[in-house]
Amino acid sequence: MLPNMHHAEPIPEAARAEIDRLLQSGDLFRYTAPENAPVALLEAEFAAHMGSKYALAVSSCSAALFLSLKALDLPRDARVMIPGFTFAAVPSSIVHADCIPVLCEVGDNYRIDIADFTAKLDSVDAVIISHMRGHTSDMDAIMALCNARNIPVIEDAAHSLGTTWHGKNIGTIGKIGCFSFQSYKLLNAGEGGILITDDADLVARAVIFSGAYEHNWRKHMDRKDNSADLQEAFARWQNKLPLYNLRMSNLSAAVIRPQIPCIADRVSSGRRNHDLVAQLIEESAFITVPAKLPPEERAPDSLQFNVEGMSDEQVHAFVAAADAEGVKVQVFGLTSDNARAFWNWEFLPEKFELPQTRDMLMRACDTRLPARLTAAECREVAAILIRAAEKATAIERAYGT
Ligand SMILES: *Cc1c(COP(=O)(O)O)cnc(C)c1O
Repeated sequence: MLPNMHHAEPIPEAARAEIDRLLQSGDLFRYTAPENAPVALLEAEFAAHMGSKYALAVSSCSAALFLSLKALDLPRDARVMIPGFTFAAVPSSIVHADCIPVLCEVGDNYRIDIADFTAKLDSVDAVIISHMRGHTSDMDAIMALCNARNIPVIEDAAHSLGTTWHGKNIGTIGKIGCFSFQSYKLLNAGEGGILITDDADLVARAVIFSGAYEHNWRKHMDRKDNSADLQEAFARWQNKLPLYNLRMSNLSAAVIRPQIPCIADRVSSGRRNHDLVAQLIEESAFITVPAKLPPEERAPDSLQFNVEGMSDEQVHAFVAAADAEGVKVQVFGLTSDNARAFWNWEFLPEKFELPQTRDMLMRACDTRLPARLTAAECREVAAILIRAAEKATAIERAYGT
């Protein structure tokens, strides 16, 4: 029997005492305590963990993306490029910031098609690189292309905590990196997000936009080595920016902080499980698992693979057969109203035809693969997927043509 693969990891016991203290004192708002509020401590710990100068914790990764665009001071109707394979919340954050999403093609390895990205780059003002499901696009090519044109890069690293590129943390390569603490991500607070940057001016703007009214920005000044730059930046923006109130509560921070020391273990177990299942299912003639790019070390908590040589009906039969044995698979383009299929983003101000991305989405499968699975459970998942592919394709062989 496989465990429920949609359950998150338990929250470390250490969170309880802190949550209890917060409940006793009622101190849930990040700006009540004069210093060391749990949210401020989370920011300091997360920035240190990532090796970035500044961090701002907010209500979600979508809020972090929205604030990143606002921090960049993009004009209304600025064009922001994203990959055509991402979650609907990403183009939504662009619309929220009064900008226009521009979609570029993604290859069958789930990564940005650099030729299409290059072709569209001169028509945009900023890019958000969504490392969808933690698959890292070619950041060397992207940064060279964007730096040459002075186009700012925001990394949507919601699902990439623990991933590295040439040994450098994903989220620290672009100007701003955004992460999620939603329950399906590596650190789980139910909801929450954080942005990181080395740019004092950008973080000062984001802090004020996020709801640091009056002089609450002083509670973001605890990192002494950076305080002169920050002080200047906050003085520049005092009273100049609207307050969107996208703050994080102390309760969320209390849930997240004790999970930070668990990152390394979760990353290595997740990678071990992923690589084991990937290697086993590759033996099926109907399944391929796209290779990672060489500079990338992944931190997967789910598995994506492509089915090949199947009709739509056979893909549906494959999904049903896997489900019957306890492995839930979604095919991004075949489940109705899927939020990761770009043609369902009917709210977009401009439409994009992305035939290559569409083809990928029609055959790309997605299944959860929690870090806590044992090797035996991983082998069982792989066996179920291989059997389901055999079963689905046998139907056609029996009744076909
Ligand atoms: C989860 C996710 C988001 C949205 O994060 P929220 O915290 O729920 O707003 C954005 N981008 C990617 C790639 C995600 O996986």
